[in-house]
Amino acid sequence: MFDEKLIALGRGGNPIRNIAAYGAKRAEEIGKENVFDFTMGAPSVDPPACVHETIKNLIDTRPAMELHNYAPAAGLPYARKKIAAYLTATYGVDYDAADIYMTMGASSALCILSKALTTPGDEAIGVTPYFMDYAFYANTVGVKFVEVPSVGPDFQVDTEALRAAINEKTAYVIINSPNNPSGKVLSRENIEQIAAVMEAKQAEFSHPIYLIADEPYRELLYGNLTVTYIPTIYKNTIYCYSFSKSLSLPGDRIGFIAVSKKVDAYDSVMEAITFVARAYGYVCLSPMNQIMAADCIGQTSDISKYEENRNLMYDSLTAMGFEFIHPDGAFYLFIKSPEADSQEFCKKAMAKDLLIVPGDAFSYPGYARIAYCVSYDTIKRSLPKFAELAAEYGLKGSQE
Ligand code: PLP
Repeated sequence: MFDEKLIALGRGGNPIRNIAAYGAKRAEEIGKENVFDFTMGAPSVDPPACVHETIKNLIDTRPAMELHNYAPAAGLPYARKKIAAYLTATYGVDYDAADIYMTMGASSALCILSKALTTPGDEAIGVTPYFMDYAFYANTVGVKFVEVPSVGPDFQVDTEALRAAINEKTAYVIINSPNNPSGKVLSRENIEQIAAVMEAKQAEFSHPIYLIADEPYRELLYGNLTVTYIPTIYKNTIYCYSFSKSLSLPGDRIGFIAVSKKVDAYDSVMEAITFVARAYGYVCLSPMNQIMAADCIGQTSDISKYEENRNLMYDSLTAMGFEFIHPDGAFYLFIKSPEADSQEFCKKAMAKDLLIVPGDAFSYPGYARIAYCVSYDTIKRSLPKFAELAAEYGLKGSQE
């Protein structure tokens, strides 16, 4: 029988894609250049040269059926070995090929883990604001998704709230830094506090509580910031990575899960991942994409373009009187809604063909997300519209 809850969720669609679809329709009416679509976290900068060079070279030098055949379910030994060696050399945590499971981006990695680390009736914890699908991955496998807030101007995890939220049913906690949608990076100190809370709770309940570190934006950092490699601080961290953002490859669907042998119940974790991935059909990624990602790991598309966008958007909108969380990374600005209802704010923006996403979609009402991974020119041309929006709210600076 159908599960009516799932049907209702399917019918509602994805709020981000719903606004983007509206934008596409609107573009047919008034012209693409007059619609300012800041909805999707889709990279706009070309991949680094390495991506196409590797693919061209593979096509020129390898037998076709080596590139298009079934890969081993967990990934090519070549790719897994290379990724493991990169992680070990870069972050100082030992991995070998067996510790890496190749996935179709971070989405399938998180989906696999939500099932592999739990049994129905368990709980998982996420920190608001968060990528909305975290809750769906958990709920769909009978796991309650419990929210803990982030606090302060820097959006760090509220570790006292985390302590209160963890109970004997908690199977995992998921964190994301640099964060979608706030652009904030968790400090080393905050991660140490999270680890201390989780270690105490593991001891209290006598079972592992895994920390999933979802890090598709790890390299998208501005200024001199660094992102702490969480497995160096909390042993039971399972690291999820995607090449979607760093190499500008969201359409190629490629990422991985890394599980250090030091993780508690390592064999069970790997066996569960292996089976769940098979049961979900997340197996045998394109060999060509695996080799390409492994050969280009550590490189990025030209991140400076996003930094220029961030600076233009942040400086211009701040001068208009809007308030923001100052982003350290990723390609999102989280803007404070000038009225309590952020959905209304986004509707007013939409009436000016500025398409932005209410914070409600990230379980953080009162804010809205602006994805600035668009062209610099689009941002420049959108500014008069943002100025009109600021004027509508009588913001200080909007009349200058
Ligand atoms: N996690 C976060 C925080 C994201 O923002 C996204 C995509 O935007 C994903 C995971 C999924 O990314 P992908 O499946 O393309 O790797």
